[in-house]
Amino acid sequence: MHPPFFRLAWLAALLLLAGCTTTPARTTATRTASEPVPLLLISIDALRADYLGKGDTPHLDRLARQGVRAEWMNPSYPALTFPNHFTLVTGLRPDRHGVVHNTMREEGLGDFRVADLAAVGDGRWWRAEPIWVGAEKAGLPTAIWAWPGSAAEIDGVRPTRWKPYDESIPADQRADEVARWLEEPAATRPRFAALYLEMVDGAGHEHGPHAPQTHQAVRQADAAVGRLLDSLAGKGLLERMNVIVVSDHGMAVVPPGQVVAVEDMVPVEDAIVVSIGQSVGIAPRAGHVEAAEKRLLGRHNHYQCWRKSELPARWHYGRNARVPPIVCQMDEGWDAIPAAGMAKRALAGTRGSHGYDPALASMRATFIAHGLAFRKGVVIAPFDNVDVYPLMARLLDIPARENDGDIAPLLPALEADK
Ligand code: AMP
Ligand code: ZN
Ligand code: ZN
Repeated sequence: MHPPFFRLAWLAALLLLAGCTTTPARTTATRTASEPVPLLLISIDALRADYLGKGDTPHLDRLARQGVRAEWMNPSYPALTFPNHFTLVTGLRPDRHGVVHNTMREEGLGDFRVADLAAVGDGRWWRAEPIWVGAEKAGLPTAIWAWPGSAAEIDGVRPTRWKPYDESIPADQRADEVARWLEEPAATRPRFAALYLEMVDGAGHEHGPHAPQTHQAVRQADAAVGRLLDSLAGKGLLERMNVIVVSDHGMAVVPPGQVVAVEDMVPVEDAIVVSIGQSVGIAPRAGHVEAAEKRLLGRHNHYQCWRKSELPARWHYGRNARVPPIVCQMDEGWDAIPAAGMAKRALAGTRGSHGYDPALASMRATFIAHGLAFRKGVVIAPFDNVDVYPLMARLLDIPARENDGDIAPLLPALEADK
């Protein structure tokens, strides 16, 4: 009906109007093309996937509703804290990054234990490149609150800012510090920040995953995350960045009395027990290999043992020199501890443990993502935790090192243009 010129003029006027009406909102919610997008990674240790949506996690539930949640995330073997935290930031299975257990031994390097802060901060144990090292190498500043490995110099690089693990610092204080980092002016603001919280793991071990004390710890961790997110939102930052919340593994019920003494698994004269707990690493003594193997290999009540080369393939475990020659995997709900601890354990009620087969429902970990790169209100299918690293490398726009992950399962989480 109208000549083309009028149609074009109408279109131009409409576009102008649309532009005018959206301008005020853009000042807080949108970034300019050149503004870097920070990435915040939060780990709540042992936050089982099914702890969400039960009334204890209002802040995490809201984040998931306004972003993406995985039905669950599969931990890597062994389902322990240090191996899985390093997997999340390297995309490598523990067997490949070398932090094969919370307790390790290496000829010439000695013993690694989580509680030994000198070993934890010794870069020789951490032989793969975590995302913060890749980011620093690419010139992006990073700031890390006690992520396992962040206290070590790796490949000559440390995070620009890092805080050593310190249980005595309350979660809210940690949240406030990470908020302060991210609220700094663009010139000093970290491009990648991480926060670690352990209280859910502690309560889960002491009381079991379903105890009131564990619910309380989940509420406390959720409140700390909420405090951090509210602070970022108040500054107009939350919508201009990306946030990923993960856990390293779940937590299983250990009923009273479900414990085996490692000395009953193998006599001390035949083997050294390098790591205890749920994934038990055993090194036969010289001249006792046959005796140790005869005693251990195969199925027992409450556990099963393999030569490291014969472990189930789906665990991707057993090639690394740090894995002892024999690995015994405890059945769900059973612990292996030194005989010296049995009397004390006999007094304990229901407890919790992880480190069981990562395929078990009780070991399922949490994954939530929110922000500029992510779709809203989406639930994605379960995926392996090695896949988080290639996702983060893409979000930071840095090259991903060779890894065991695959970004494909996470593509449905991303906005089409990210
Ligand atoms: P686990 O439950 O044995 O797999 O280990 C979890 C424990 O590791 C937590 O309860 C903390 O006490 C400890 N932990 C976590 N992060 C660190 C860290 N960065 N440095 C030292 N210890 C840590
Ligand atoms: Zn853990
Ligand atoms: Zn734990």
